[in-house]
Amino acid sequence: MTTDNRKDRRFSRRKFMKTAAAAGGTLLAGSAPGMWKPESKKRHKRPSNPDPDLMLVNGRIHTMDAANRIVSSVAIKDGRFVEVGYSHRYREGSGTRVIDLRGRTVVPGIIDNHNHIVLMGNRPGYHTPLENAYSIPDVQAIYAARAAGIPRGAWITTIGGFHSNHIYANPADPTSGRLPTRAELDAAVPDNPAFIEIGFTGPAVTNSAGKAIFESQGITVSDTGAMSGNNPSRALLYLRQTLLTPAERRRSVIDAMNYAASVGVTTHLDQGAFQATNTASDGAAHEDNFTMHIPFLEVYGQGEGIVRLRINFLHMESDPNTPELVQRLKNAFPFFGDDMVRTGGIGEFIAQGTSVTSPFAAAAQKVAQAGWRAEVHSLGRRQTPSSNPADFELEIMGFEAANASFPGIVRETRWVVAHVPGITQEWIDRLQAIGGNLSLTGWQYLAGNLPTSTVAPYAGPPFRMIVDSGNRADGIHSGMSSDGMQIAPMNPWLHMYYATTGLNARRVLINPGQQITRQEVLSLYTSHNGWFLHEEDQLGTIEEGKLADLVVLNSDYFAVADDDLKKIRSVLTVVDGEVVYNAGVLRWHGG
Ligand SMILES: [Zn+2]
Repeated sequence: MTTDNRKDRRFSRRKFMKTAAAAGGTLLAGSAPGMWKPESKKRHKRPSNPDPDLMLVNGRIHTMDAANRIVSSVAIKDGRFVEVGYSHRYREGSGTRVIDLRGRTVVPGIIDNHNHIVLMGNRPGYHTPLENAYSIPDVQAIYAARAAGIPRGAWITTIGGFHSNHIYANPADPTSGRLPTRAELDAAVPDNPAFIEIGFTGPAVTNSAGKAIFESQGITVSDTGAMSGNNPSRALLYLRQTLLTPAERRRSVIDAMNYAASVGVTTHLDQGAFQATNTASDGAAHEDNFTMHIPFLEVYGQGEGIVRLRINFLHMESDPNTPELVQRLKNAFPFFGDDMVRTGGIGEFIAQGTSVTSPFAAAAQKVAQAGWRAEVHSLGRRQTPSSNPADFELEIMGFEAANASFPGIVRETRWVVAHVPGITQEWIDRLQAIGGNLSLTGWQYLAGNLPTSTVAPYAGPPFRMIVDSGNRADGIHSGMSSDGMQIAPMNPWLHMYYATTGLNARRVLINPGQQITRQEVLSLYTSHNGWFLHEEDQLGTIEEGKLADLVVLNSDYFAVADDDLKKIRSVLTVVDGEVVYNAGVLRWHGG
């Protein structure tokens, strides 16, 4: 990216913050709109100005560097950290904005190495995350706030990233564990049609305004607003076909980025979508893999991208010749782009299926031959030692075969198996031997249960086993991810809760013996994920010379009670040296 482009983006980003506040975008995180009044920066007029652009002082800044330093101040210039801890090389100048952290905890910008933010940015309607709702009144408050910032009559939607198990603040409350009803949604948003869908295909619920519209389309809605069978997917198809204009997709992209900044996720490695058929067999995870990036690229092109995006290409062909994968490998570029938006590898699928009769192993050979990275996902486990191989075993064998044909490719380009709820020590060691990596996901938090397997008797992933394996000499690399936005929330603090407690959303222990520490899971989400992106020299820690991404937290992540981990939010998010989210609780001067 040229210097000129960077300046353009900064200017546009400030313009965006005003627009987002005026549109009520910041209401998603519960902050007051309009408090952030960015001012022009003198450094743009005087590029030779030696002063830092931004200084944060009087904080507890966890750098997550190799020495695990905690410092009180940082200075940022031209999008990078220029001073971490006081060394008196940099002083506040006339062009410097200084933020007093008043003792607050700061961490590096969170990196999510496996999610689906591109799907979230292509949702029809005013998609409104409910991943931070714990009760029916929470849902009502979030929806009422959303309605206040959008046109009367506009659709309010929540498509995935949420589960009725999350409505569990008080287990004794009879409304716990269920979706809101039509009447409860009517009370919150009487003037806007609403649609809430769990997971990939429902169940779902709507309010009276939505019910009338859906029924006019022949879609069945019960008297309580509940929708089941294929009705949620028919409803979603109708919303996509009637609402998703190019302008609405761009607005949805900005909403998704704004939400990400509010929970501190500053970099996203997107893992694609199931290819849309434009029929009612499509679910929340379906989109057109060949066009869905366009609204994101437009937003970045207009200088309004406020979080970093890395793009994997998902290929799921059953044709043994995998012709689309072949063309992708010939005609696209891996790890190509700039610091804000860049391509990645092939994933989270390289072919349909993983069995020996599927194209999987042949696809792995093709990816290796082209010198690309492969990322695949595993959701399986063995029930007993004698049962059939689990998906991760077939995947790792496919990786081993590709690595035998093209020696060193797995280690060099850092191939990945993601989720791995049922992986065992034996297979961790086999993957580690060829230089493969693991992406760990807390998605079982929402709807996971304790499994009956005798081989892997934990809901997984086995965080403890994997982190301990990584601590050995030349140990396996692992990083943390959400797998949001259908089956799981994006909010990283929920995944950190799960990794450190083993408790699901209903507070049942489902991952016994596999808990890791807060320091460990935060390092998986920051420094380790810099490695995952192939950008460990640029991202993941607060160090001089690295890109200036950080999150100021609303409470001390290292000290709060377990349950309060779920309430952690950003009060100020910096990406590329720019304040991209501000809840309005910090004071600053200068600049
Ligand atoms: Zn995924």
